Amino acid sequence: MEEKPKMKKSGKVYLVGAGPGDPGLITVRGKNLLERAEVVVYDYLASKKLLKHAPASAELIYVGKKGGVKHTHTQEEINQMLVDHALAGKTVVRLKGGDPFIFGRGGEEVEKLHEAGAPFEVVPGVTSATAAATYAGIPITHRDYTASVAFVTGHEDPTKENSNIDWSKLSTGAGTLVIYMGIKNLPIIVENLIKYGRDPKTPVAVVRWASTPEQRSVVGTLETITQVVVEAGVKPPALIIVGEVVKLRDTIDWYEKRPLFNKKIIVTRTREQASDLVAGLEEFGANCLEYSTIHIKPVESCEVLDGELERLEEYHWILFTSLNGVKYFFERLYSKGMDARDLKGPDLAVVGKSTADLLLRYGLNADLIPSTFTGEGLAESLLDQGVEGRNILIPRALQAREILPETLRGAGAQVTVAPVYENCPAEGDKENLREELENGGVEMITFTSSSTVRNFLAMIDMENQEELQKILAGVKIAAIGPITAKTITDNGLQVDIQPEEFTIPAMIQSIVGYYNGDGK
Ligand code: SAH
Repeated sequence: MEEKPKMKKSGKVYLVGAGPGDPGLITVRGKNLLERAEVVVYDYLASKKLLKHAPASAELIYVGKKGGVKHTHTQEEINQMLVDHALAGKTVVRLKGGDPFIFGRGGEEVEKLHEAGAPFEVVPGVTSATAAATYAGIPITHRDYTASVAFVTGHEDPTKENSNIDWSKLSTGAGTLVIYMGIKNLPIIVENLIKYGRDPKTPVAVVRWASTPEQRSVVGTLETITQVVVEAGVKPPALIIVGEVVKLRDTIDWYEKRPLFNKKIIVTRTREQASDLVAGLEEFGANCLEYSTIHIKPVESCEVLDGELERLEEYHWILFTSLNGVKYFFERLYSKGMDARDLKGPDLAVVGKSTADLLLRYGLNADLIPSTFTGEGLAESLLDQGVEGRNILIPRALQAREILPETLRGAGAQVTVAPVYENCPAEGDKENLREELENGGVEMITFTSSSTVRNFLAMIDMENQEELQKILAGVKIAAIGPITAKTITDNGLQVDIQPEEFTIPAMIQSIVGYYNGDGK
């Protein structure tokens, strides 16, 4: 077919509201645009977590503007950058905190694009005022309290002669006032509001880093809030909410009352594992820091498994002792042109419920799940059935405990261990992990396997036991099951939380229960 002459692709700039901080609060449209961006130009207040939606090939440009700190780019440079990329034919997402048109200079950026003839679109976002109020438990309007709300900038010096803000009208002109960028000028703002007739007893809330795990809010009245803010050391970015609706916080506060709110939890895991644990803990308000301690890769040689795949029908049992065992077994099976139908002979046993669930995704029901989800538990259940003279295949990690094959052999079974993957320590992030621990403020570390424990200890690389105890002083430790717990205690550390059932949901429940005071 004859190739069509290529039309020059025309670029476009999408001003996208990133929302207030919680990455779940971007719009569907905003996320879709990020997913096909070629260039992303983002701000200090736009959640960095959103950047993962952009294609790996996208150019990510940080133009952060942080109040009081030297700007990385001037507004003129940003405007020019947007124009240049659009005219070069690129799809540009200009990601701005909150809503682009609410105190975000979005209007100016769009004017410049228009002047330069560069196409653009604007996607609104959840502005920080509504998010801060909602996440602090304050309905911004309420039939019993207020019928109007005003968004105001507090950045302007209220004493300046030609101020754009007429405080004499504003102070009593709207029921609820939400003031952006007002922390520095808080004393003057409060003074003006009282001076122009607002009751000094009016409740005021100040909310910092709203809708993020670092959210912090304080409450006072017009008379007291300046002092409250100084004493609590509240710094920007924060919003000031003034009005009777603030009173409702006592009943409505839900976000900060979640059991894991304000708790920093280090989640050690493998790079390839789905972050079910992180998602679950975050649901309860935790601030999770994920560290990959293990990198999992297929073994270099699958010689053993390849041989056994040709005589699968001779096996009575195949045992899956880990999720990765399932995953890499099937990868190899498929690569040989085989599939689930070739497994109709042997019975299938798994170590626990998650492994059974994963197996089912490959179209196969587990025939045996032990009541205790460990290698020992599995061995016991099999022994109950009698294994003498049975052929048993175990696809698993290159380095793993020998207890299961040894017990089965001891009972007269023919056991073949087929390594399908290996655990290697993950590189990277080391410095950052040590820094987090040294700075204090880490509440808990979670371990989901013995390898995560060993690799974590290798990563933080403490000189001796004493140093290790010192850096982990006061940090709680959660282990998914008894084997992991033993590796922890063997290394001189204490286990604070261990679920009865060895699954991620049970682990989340135990952690939450620990803080709710309903047992460990
Ligand atoms: N376009 C943004 C506002 C930009 S102005 C929006 O619609 O939200 C920057 C100011 O917004 C900050 O100084 C602070 O007052 C407020 N702000 C933005 N994000 C915030 C957050 N997560 N928590 C509290 N205040 C926030």
